[in-house]
Formats: sequence, structure tokens, C-alpha cells
Amino acid sequence: MNQLKTISAEILLQLMINNNVTVLDIRNLEEFQNGHIYGAIHIPVEELSKKHDIIQSNNLIVTYCGKGGGRSDRAATILNEIGRTSLPLEGGYYSWIQKNIDLTNHQQNEIMIHQLFEKESSSYTYLLADKITREAVLIDPVLETVDRDLRLIEDLNLELLYILDTHLHADHITGSSKIKKQTGAKSGVSKKAGVCCADLELIDGQEIKFGRFTIKVLETPGHTSESLSFFCAGSVFTGDTLLIRSAGRTDFQNGSSSELFDSIHNKLYTLPDNTKVFPGHDYNGFTHTTIVDEKRLNSRISNKKEKEDFIKIMDNLKLPKPKKIDEAVPANLQCGKQIQKQSI
Ligand code: FE
Repeated sequence: MNQLKTISAEILLQLMINNNVTVLDIRNLEEFQNGHIYGAIHIPVEELSKKHDIIQSNNLIVTYCGKGGGRSDRAATILNEIGRTSLPLEGGYYSWIQKNIDLTNHQQNEIMIHQLFEKESSSYTYLLADKITREAVLIDPVLETVDRDLRLIEDLNLELLYILDTHLHADHITGSSKIKKQTGAKSGVSKKAGVCCADLELIDGQEIKFGRFTIKVLETPGHTSESLSFFCAGSVFTGDTLLIRSAGRTDFQNGSSSELFDSIHNKLYTLPDNTKVFPGHDYNGFTHTTIVDEKRLNSRISNKKEKEDFIKIMDNLKLPKPKKIDEAVPANLQCGKQIQKQSI
């Protein structure tokens, strides 16, 4: 198959200035609505064979998708085969934005965040994505809701790159292994967890990139010794380290109230005050909070609370053991693969 020639963003701009080109966005409607090249016609690639008549001018037609290649090549080929002249944009809309050529008609510098809930364990899973490149990361998926999460990823036309766990959960089994099998995404968990099946063994300060965004790994031990928080684009995903007006229990899996106090004060409370906090659980119907609100309002660990008082509170919680701990922790040490009982 002949390799299609491409056109650079700079040349496309010149052609647009001279009115010598028709620009065709062949992405889906949501991608188009999130931002597009000014003046582009929108026809999703799947509909192009039937709807190409919409393009009336005889100009060169430049097709573009999110990152170039793939869909835009397919669209240009369809057009060329029916006698139109078409070239795909090199690097797609991503390269157009990267080069700051058109800043007038896009609002997608914001990250896409979906907060997903699993009701039996009151757990939150987070889907983070770049609206332009469609690259995505999933944080703390739950085994029971894997199919829902995968459906959302497919519906939104996202490419899942990473599945990260904030810690080895005691109350549910991670969906990591099942999702990895179905998507090819890489799994990541703290190096301190000693989980050999993870693709990435995460350490403090490590950076994980997807699209234009970077997740910074923060080691925040205390709830468990391998607990991590993930900071990304003005939001922090805290697992069970910092909860809304609360903090994760510290009475199993090498938990330490003293370490949890230090992690929250030295790592999380030093983030900008307006940082949004997305916890791993909430049992009261709340969804998120901010660093400044927790510093002021957290009854277990406000910034006024002394360490000794915090340790006293945590040591006297007297919570029942999580129902699934004996099943969940061994499974999570295997990235969520359930241990089969041997039948003799
Ligand atoms: Fe936990």
C-alpha cells in the first residue's frame, strides 16, 4: 500500500489564509465539540463515504483526526478513491494545538475526569483523559465494575495507557488485571507493594505521561505502607490517605498513624490550596473536596490538629475488619487475579 503524503500544520495555515483548502474534521462529535480547527467541516470518518457531497469546493481537502495517521489517513484515502484530492494533517489536531496555531476555538486544555462509583465498597474509580489525544489513565478500578469502565472508555473513544492503584486495597479486588488483559494498558502500583505482576513499580516523584498531561507520583504511606497519591493538572487522587473530612484507617497492612500524619501534612497539605482532592472512598455522598477545605474542616486531621491527638483518634476508631480483606489483599498482590481454591 502506498504511504500517503501528509501536510504540516504550518502549510495548512498558509493554505487557509489563501483560501485554497477545505479542512475536514473526521473525528466523532464529542471530539469535534471539544474543539476544532476554525472553519473545519465535520463529517465522522464512518459517514464519509455517504456524506462526502457536503464538501462542495474543489479545493484540496485536508483531513485531520486526534493525533494523525489512522482515521485521517483512512478518510483521505476514501476521498482520493472517489476522485477528490485529499491529504491528512501530520500529527492531527494535537500538532495544530501544540504549535499554538489556533487558540481561538478550543476549550480543551482542561483535563477530562470521570468519577465512577462502586456501591458495595463505596469506592471511587477515576478515568482521566486528554480530550485531544484521547489518551487515558484509570485509577483504582474495582473488579465488579470493570465492564462499565471499559464501556465508558470505548464510548468516549479513549486509548487507555495506564491502570494505576493507589494501594493494595483491603475492601475490594482491583480490576487492574482484567482491564489490562482486555486493553493492553500497563498496570502500576507502588514499588513498596512488592507486586511482581505490575508493569510499573512506582516511586516518589515518578512522572507518568498521557497526552499533554503528567501524573506525579507522591508516596503517602500511613493508611498502608505502600499508599500513593497521584497529582495531575491541579487535582490530587488520594486513595485512602486523605478522605473528605477524614483519613484512612491505619490498623492493618503496616499502617501507621504517625506516618499518615506526616504524609498528609508534608505532602498533601503543601500542595496549592485550590488543589481538588478526589478520594478513594466516600461513605457520606460527597464527591470531592479541596486542600484548603480539608486543612480547615477535617475533623481527624485539620492543620490545627497536633500529631499526638491525631494518633489518639486513629488508635481508638475500633472499626470492624473489612469484609473482603482475606480475599482482597491476596488477590491484589496478584494484580487482582482471584486465587482459585484447589479442588482435590
Ligand atoms: Fe484502603
